[in-house]
Amino acid sequence: MTLAPPLAPLSPGLTEQQRERYRRQLQLPNFGEAAQQRLLESSVLVTGVGGLGGTVALYLAAAGIGQLVLARGGNLRLDDLNRQVLMRNDGVGKLRVDQAAESLRRFNPETLVVAVADYVTAENVGGLVAQAEIAVDATHNFEERYLLNDACLQAGIPMVEAAMDDMEAHLTTIVPGLTPCLRCLNPEPPPWDRRGFGVLGAVSGALACLAALEVIKQLTGCGPTLQGELARLDFNQLSMRRLRLQRDRHCPSCGSLQP
Ligand SMILES: [Zn+2]
Repeated sequence: MTLAPPLAPLSPGLTEQQRERYRRQLQLPNFGEAAQQRLLESSVLVTGVGGLGGTVALYLAAAGIGQLVLARGGNLRLDDLNRQVLMRNDGVGKLRVDQAAESLRRFNPETLVVAVADYVTAENVGGLVAQAEIAVDATHNFEERYLLNDACLQAGIPMVEAAMDDMEAHLTTIVPGLTPCLRCLNPEPPPWDRRGFGVLGAVSGALACLAALEVIKQLTGCGPTLQGELARLDFNQLSMRRLRLQRDRHCPSCGSLQP
């Protein structure tokens, strides 16, 4: 006789439809209805909706994040389509962020999607961060990454930092006052920031899934995150190293927040 898996205890917080939609994750030992409720009530900023940010947003919508704020300027190009899975072939030449928002709304109508058709700038970053309680840095250059880093530090919200260079990727979770920040890790933009690089959609997608998992863990506490550690992934060799990060005591961004 096969025993049915134990049902999650009923709670007035979730509707029957939500219990069914998220049933498979509610069965996880460290992920109960309280964790699901937490995701449903949360707001996440994702900067960039390309191969990385778009896939992060897709898996956050799948998990039931209540609100996604997406920020990305520019129109879709044909050479985006090897990795940007929220886009459509007939959307080339049209705004990326609108296509991403439409795909996400169709995928999970419960997730409220706010689409901002702009890159991260000194003028808009404060307003973007104010709409969220955690941010995912999936922008495509360090100018935007530093702006988001500084705004998250100022607002006191965590930032999941995900970056790629060819077949390599970096991932960490930055918590203001607790961990080193992006500028501690990279006082200057790395050399690959300006030259552009090759990328496989499977690589940006794999990193995106790990970044989405960091967000879910950070919000719910269902598992330990990469706070204070950098995961360095080599997708060619399929290996990962975890490095403990050092604070820069004189960091211009987070030095004043350090104990
Ligand atoms: Zn710092």
